[in-house]
Amino acid sequence: MTDPLRFDRDHIWHPYTSMVDPLPVYRVASANGVCIRLADGRELIDGMSSWWCAIHGYNHPALNAALRSQLDDAAHVMFGGLTHEPAIELARTLIELTPPGLQHVFFSDSGSVAVEVAIKMALQYWGALGKPEKQRLVTIRGGYHGDTFGAMSVCDPVNGMHERFRPVLPQHLFADRPTSRPGEPLSLEDARGIEQLLREHHQETAAVILEPIVQGAGGMWFYTPDYLNHVKALCERFDVLLVFDEIATGFGRTGRLFACEHAGVEPDIMCLGKALTGGYLSLAATLTSTRVAQGISADGGVLMHGPTFMANPLACAVARRSIELLLTGDWQGRVAAIEAQLRAELAPYAALTEVRDVRVLGAIGVVQTDKPVDVASLQRVFVDSGVWIRPFNDLIYLMPPYVIDEPALRQLTQAIGQGLKGTAAG
Ligand SMILES: *Cc1c(COP(=O)(O)O)cnc(C)c1O
Repeated sequence: MTDPLRFDRDHIWHPYTSMVDPLPVYRVASANGVCIRLADGRELIDGMSSWWCAIHGYNHPALNAALRSQLDDAAHVMFGGLTHEPAIELARTLIELTPPGLQHVFFSDSGSVAVEVAIKMALQYWGALGKPEKQRLVTIRGGYHGDTFGAMSVCDPVNGMHERFRPVLPQHLFADRPTSRPGEPLSLEDARGIEQLLREHHQETAAVILEPIVQGAGGMWFYTPDYLNHVKALCERFDVLLVFDEIATGFGRTGRLFACEHAGVEPDIMCLGKALTGGYLSLAATLTSTRVAQGISADGGVLMHGPTFMANPLACAVARRSIELLLTGDWQGRVAAIEAQLRAELAPYAALTEVRDVRVLGAIGVVQTDKPVDVASLQRVFVDSGVWIRPFNDLIYLMPPYVIDEPALRQLTQAIGQGLKGTAAG
């Protein structure tokens, strides 16, 4: 029998990797709290929340119990023609928590699909209202919205996946990424870019789609909430829908329950995912207003989507419990404490020559290096220091579970210092 790691290497793809020359992977035995235990017994403090998801940490008794209890009722039933309490109660909760105009929920199985559904909603809306020419999307550079084709078409056209798929991707419209940071007023240049795009193209534009305040996998960039107010006003002026992709920012990560709250701006359509289930199962939701929901069927049509595992009861049950845990705990205090500690402990790295920028917002800390890092070797340094941090390109970043304590977070920030020394040495 081949060694499991060898089998993995020879037969299983990992995200964005090669079957010919894959990056190394580490074998996990278990995960508990903020700790990931490797098969060789080493324990790593988790700085990633498994890609923004595991906000309460791993192996949480309350989430485990919610799943076990739902398991005895029904692991899954089709959502065509059937419904169930976990979906109804979760939808009720999401409608209550998100901006008041969002009153209708479409459940799907991943963030990318939630974005596809959002795009379909926007296109179908205009089609049903007799404006089928409104088919294009406006977005900003540096975005990330998922890996399916519709989502890819609004990812950053340079560092995204456009190069490989350009001939088959719909051609959308890109404004420059806003340069004004949180706390700064919106620059005239930032304001003009998207305004000009919409002035020229609004007649063919269905919606503006963007990640509010924090652009995640497209480059971990933070921008001023004023930009959202500006874009909202433009959407109203030019009769274009506004879609917020809150898949990464939702559920407290930026210091507000949803990032759009920093600006007090309400979108027409909102996508949720990632932390929705506290990192337990894949589930996503696309919410929209009554105007859009009813508009979609103005021509007698139906919303054309229906995944096999739509509103999976296990996923809905654990999502409900995760949100309940969040709301009954002091998440705001926790995120604020993490933010303060990240600011204090990452700031000194800004002075290093190999560092271009350090930025912190909510429970997200980013160290941007001068050159792209060597992921495999840096990863080894981190694992040897007892932490799990997964850098990409020129970005070493932390988004720990909210339950992390001060010493564990310090171990993460200090490990970044160790890693930076390593990159300087070559
Ligand atoms: C992760 C992410 C997605 C895609 O979600 P998947 O569940 O990986 O398909 C979409 N948008 C944003 C902002 C994300 O961070």
